[in-house]
Amino acid sequence: MSVPQWLLKKMPEFVVFSRTNRIISSVNTVCRSAACPNILECFSNRHTAFMILGSSCTRNCAFCGVDHGTPLPVDSGEPARVAEAAKELGLSHVVVTSVSRDDLADGGALQFARTIEALHRAGGMTVEVLIPDFGGNNDSLRQVMDAEPHVIAHNLETVRRLQPVIRPRAGYERSLDIIRHVKVSDKRILAKSGLILGLGENDSEILAAMTDLREAGCDILTLGQYRQPGENQLPVPRFILEEGFEYWREEGMRLGFSHVFSGSYVRSSYRAGDVFQSDGGKPTWKTGGY
Ligand code: SF4
Repeated sequence: MSVPQWLLKKMPEFVVFSRTNRIISSVNTVCRSAACPNILECFSNRHTAFMILGSSCTRNCAFCGVDHGTPLPVDSGEPARVAEAAKELGLSHVVVTSVSRDDLADGGALQFARTIEALHRAGGMTVEVLIPDFGGNNDSLRQVMDAEPHVIAHNLETVRRLQPVIRPRAGYERSLDIIRHVKVSDKRILAKSGLILGLGENDSEILAAMTDLREAGCDILTLGQYRQPGENQLPVPRFILEEGFEYWREEGMRLGFSHVFSGSYVRSSYRAGDVFQSDGGKPTWKTGGY
């Protein structure tokens, strides 16, 4: 059986791919740690998403390919290395995420703040952080917000019913509260969230989750297909067709999201900088979809 055209990806630009790989050798990226299917495309376009606070997660969600176990101590040199790598890559938009660090009192918020500050000092970049839930600690969230990232992303990941199966140590309401808190506290910060589709949810549950995110104030939504990252993770219950993703993109725009990325290969950081355009050197928010 031949593979549908919309599932095929272009061959990468190997020279740029190798250069990206070399530059990020001193830092962790979620691209490699989570075995992202977009890695050839993104690295060939000098895109990456940095992963701070080590490569070992204190949680073990059913969909996630990142290693879990006992994490290493916080590395004080990491924020500067991330900023140096971002600068050398020439990024205009930087995405920083982390493993969940339930072993730390602040959940890793201080390291996020230091990394955002290092990126601001490097200059010329918009900064997006994809944060864990910090155990629901609003002081940690405040610490990240005070460092003034342009975008705070926190993924709902799945519909309400599947939360206990997919991410048992997180919570639907807790994640919505993070989005709500960001928008109530500082309207200048864009709030972003994402759902992984194909985990066993039905259409009315998807619509309910999108509606809840929008009502919480979420500006940017990502919708992508679940792919089993390894044999220890959940097998794929369902594949969504291209028309299905287009349908949900239109539904998202109808609900009032400013930007909806919807597609089989969409991940939280995929083409993340597309939401900004340069207006005389000043990043300006634009609306649209993918
Ligand atoms: S989609 Fe995100 S995680 Fe995947 S390769 Fe691209 S930047 Fe990395």
